Amino acid sequence: MNMAQSSDTEQLLDSELLCYARQILLDGWDMDAQLRLKSSRVVIIGAGGLGCPASETLVRAGLGQVHLLDDDVIEASNLQRQTLFLPEDIGKPKALTAATILERINPLIAARGTVARLSEDNAYELLDIASGKPNLILDCTDNFATRDVINRISVRYQIPLLSASAIAMQGQLALFEPHLNTGCYHCVFGSVVIDEAADERTCANSGVLASTTAVMGNLQANAALQYLGLTKNPLTNKLLLWDGKQMQQRLMGYRKDPQCPVCNGH
Ligand SMILES: [Zn+2]
Repeated sequence: MNMAQSSDTEQLLDSELLCYARQILLDGWDMDAQLRLKSSRVVIIGAGGLGCPASETLVRAGLGQVHLLDDDVIEASNLQRQTLFLPEDIGKPKALTAATILERINPLIAARGTVARLSEDNAYELLDIASGKPNLILDCTDNFATRDVINRISVRYQIPLLSASAIAMQGQLALFEPHLNTGCYHCVFGSVVIDEAADERTCANSGVLASTTAVMGNLQANAALQYLGLTKNPLTNKLLLWDGKQMQQRLMGYRKDPQCPVCNGH
């Protein structure tokens, strides 16, 4: 991870020192971690149940730049778990509404929203790769087909991918680093991607408890903060599985698939 060279990211302003005081005090988190977070740019795909809590926590913690991509509008059934939205926001675009409220929550950061659906064709433009790769992509979408596309983009442009999913009372989390060649989303879920029954299991038809997306979005933020601030991947070759019914969390190991059609050869 490279620190941006501009002078305003080389030190923290008095207002930032005040705002992030409790965090800088933390054992294992310091001024350098806070500066690394400030100079980071994260693209969040999906401003829904996961994207709302994940972006809110990252923005409150001091992430310098966040860019949300979502082509959906806010519906009444979203308000149960999409924590950045209010009843009067129904009908408005999620990405723009979320970016506006995030900048109100923390005026020290920059939030941007784009009403668009990410594809392999528009990724270079939408991720603004010409002006430097984002430090991290957060997959906050809710279906396997889109997850597969985001994974291909992560591998192609060698951008780390933090992928979370939430359904009913369960969730999963993984952090892939394509440049380290330790495996990708397809290495872990390849067989699931082509399972049509699994693909159709989304929040829209299976249901999701409000707390599931809140927990998983914040676990995602937890991993992102360590990765961006401390340059440490807490989930190298590990898949986190969260079970809200049993109140259990466990880690499952995975390996790179040497035959993986997505990351093999990269
Ligand atoms: Zn792979």
